[in-house]
Amino acid sequence: MGSGADDVEVETPTTFAGEPDGFDRLWTPHRMVYIGGEKPSDEAGESCPFCSAPDRSDAEGLIVHRGELCYVVLNLFPYNPGHVLVCPYRHVSLYVDLTDEETAEFTALTKQAIHALDKASAPMGYNLGMNQGAVAGAGVAAHLHQHVVPRWGGDSNFLPIVARTKALPMLLEDVRTRLVEAWPEG
Ligand SMILES: [Zn+2]
Repeated sequence: MGSGADDVEVETPTTFAGEPDGFDRLWTPHRMVYIGGEKPSDEAGESCPFCSAPDRSDAEGLIVHRGELCYVVLNLFPYNPGHVLVCPYRHVSLYVDLTDEETAEFTALTKQAIHALDKASAPMGYNLGMNQGAVAGAGVAAHLHQHVVPRWGGDSNFLPIVARTKALPMLLEDVRTRLVEAWPEG
């Protein structure tokens, strides 16, 4: 890869899983992804970031773990390093749309993600949750996903308020690799 901006291959945001939140990030290698981005679509398939991520390699799709019915992926727009999303493979929008089997694995993977994060980076706490519908703040409302956000004391500093910018100390691939290594045995 060359150093000039002309050499940078620009990927569209829909090729990664995650939700734009309006923050810029102090974080160069993945930065081009945000430039000229379009809002992800509500359609299933290629244009849905949570449908298309599993079709890519783990490294390219930022996938941390693949289960039978659900999978875990890094949020391309993390609130903190290690912010992962638990998603069903199926394109359903609401928690109540999950089958019992999907619900069981969705929950199990959420717990495994917390174990992996505990081991990898020892957070002091977590925010867990799902935004149901655009009105509740879901960036990709059509495909259910549970946020698992590790928290440390002092992690919400002045930067988001002042500059709508967050400092992320670790690159996504480093975070992904650490979580894969820390993932609990089956
Ligand atoms: Zn989808």
